[in-house]
Amino acid sequence: MIFNVDDIRAQFPILSREINGYPLAYLDNAASAQKPQAVMDALTHQMRTSFANVHRGLHTMANETTEAFEGARAKVAKFLGAPKSENIVFTKGASEALNLVAYGLAGEIKKGDEIILTQMEHHSNIVPWHFLRERYGAVLRFAPVLDNGELDVMALKGLLSSKTKIVSVVHMSNVLGTINPVQDIAKWVKAAGAIFVVDGTQAAVHMDVDVVDIGVDFYCMTGHKLYGPTGIGALYGTLEMLNRLQPFNGGGEMISDVFEDRVTYNDPPHKFEAGTPPILEAIGLGAAIDWYSQFNRADIHQHEMAVYHHALDGLRDINSFRLIGEAPEKGSVLAFNLQGAHAHDVAQILDKYGIAVRAGQHCTQPLMTRFGMHSTARASFGIYNTLDEADRLVEGVKKCLTFLT
Ligand SMILES: *Cc1c(COP(=O)(O)O)cnc(C)c1O
Repeated sequence: MIFNVDDIRAQFPILSREINGYPLAYLDNAASAQKPQAVMDALTHQMRTSFANVHRGLHTMANETTEAFEGARAKVAKFLGAPKSENIVFTKGASEALNLVAYGLAGEIKKGDEIILTQMEHHSNIVPWHFLRERYGAVLRFAPVLDNGELDVMALKGLLSSKTKIVSVVHMSNVLGTINPVQDIAKWVKAAGAIFVVDGTQAAVHMDVDVVDIGVDFYCMTGHKLYGPTGIGALYGTLEMLNRLQPFNGGGEMISDVFEDRVTYNDPPHKFEAGTPPILEAIGLGAAIDWYSQFNRADIHQHEMAVYHHALDGLRDINSFRLIGEAPEKGSVLAFNLQGAHAHDVAQILDKYGIAVRAGQHCTQPLMTRFGMHSTARASFGIYNTLDEADRLVEGVKKCLTFLT
């Protein structure tokens, strides 16, 4: 299939709306992506034709819905390169997946055990580990980020020791766009005998991911940034790790037997999915994966980076423009500031021209601190963005200058 952005845009009804009298330029994809008609259709089709609770089935629709739900799990497994469906736990999103890992490993943490993170982590991959620091005396160590936005991998390597219990690293930063060499890091982490967790929330959208190739113990992703529904994400774990991980939520479906004096658990992944799961959301995620998989990932990446570079070329002419994140390996995220202007004001002015960007800390306060900033504006490009929208961003930022500086 040839990559044609107009054909792709036509599949997103929302992209034809106007904001403040201008055509919408949606450049906030790192926060959440819009949904194609195929995903909406999959959800309504399921609700119109066959819906029941899953796994309880003795009737036709229960079986059909279970098949669709488990089918979605198989799609996620294939998408991430997981050997089996059983490797995939459905969660509410990436945050819940990381919380599940932290909670599930808490029982193994002793005072002084070290957890290594990086300065470019999302709060979702920091705060759950702080819980282990507060409650069990774990020590958190942060691998530094270099001035160009690259991870200081040698410093990270230097932090590894016999005290290291867990290493958790973002695959692609939601602010810097930096793509980290997780395959190399995995080798060092394994050699140190620690558990390797990767936050793939952005990477799963923008690059080919193969969890077995990388050599991770856990990998997480989320549906809403992959053109799918909110309320659904996934945790990949090796079967060994999923068996080792303590469950987080208790309830129906996650147990094998319940007695007055003891309980036995279901096998993974069901052990982690107490109660009625997000059935429709999971089916919607499966549809998003089907939709996305019709395109070649390299084509998508090339297109997104062309839009990114087009915008950056225009913005670099502005004296007060400052980009953060210039790693050689990076995705289509453009975080910037205009000296003398507040990022929130920039975002608000751009919105007047129909351009949606995010401004703030992007849930990465340690990273902002590292770069001596309180906030940045951020344009993040997805599959449906165009060179014309990149031009509009540049023009919009120039207008901000006349208002703000
Ligand atoms: C969005 C994001 C998260 C949180 O994902 P949710 O599914 O919204 O919980 C975690 N890490 C990164 C890098 C993100 O971009």
